[in-house]
Amino acid sequence: MYPQTHFLVPFVLAEILVKLGLFNHKLALIAGVVGVIIDLDHYLHRIIIHHDFSVKSAWNKAILQHDIHGERTFIHHWGGLIVITSILLAFVFFSWHISMALFLGYYSHLFLDGLHIHIKKRWKFKEGGLIFRIPIYEIILDIILVLFALLLNNLSI
Ligand SMILES: [Zn+2]
Repeated sequence: MYPQTHFLVPFVLAEILVKLGLFNHKLALIAGVVGVIIDLDHYLHRIIIHHDFSVKSAWNKAILQHDIHGERTFIHHWGGLIVITSILLAFVFFSWHISMALFLGYYSHLFLDGLHIHIKKRWKFKEGGLIFRIPIYEIILDIILVLFALLLNNLSI
């Protein structure tokens, strides 16, 4: 999934909690940002393993090799899941709300990465040297999420 989807899913889930009076918008924003920054490990992997500091190169490798799970660090795997879950559980005692925001961001990210939808139709383009191959279903999901977020906040387009 692309960064906008990794942001929108935890953000909208957190906005539902806002609507229920359990969360605030700042925490919803944190959940969304955490959902996106999990993928910084593609960049870290690029630096550590290949000594390549190019963001463009890390992005393109992540897009081209995403289906074979390349270019990721341990936070995308079982070991990281156990470590992060332990940290989040310990953090619950300090702040239930922040822990929940981090939980939404991290777990929604892993869930979305684990989804394998076999619809091959993609919108392919290159912009500023960055390769994009966005699946059409992801674009539709993003539009639905944005509309749902607007609906939750009683905003009109
Ligand atoms: Zn990821």
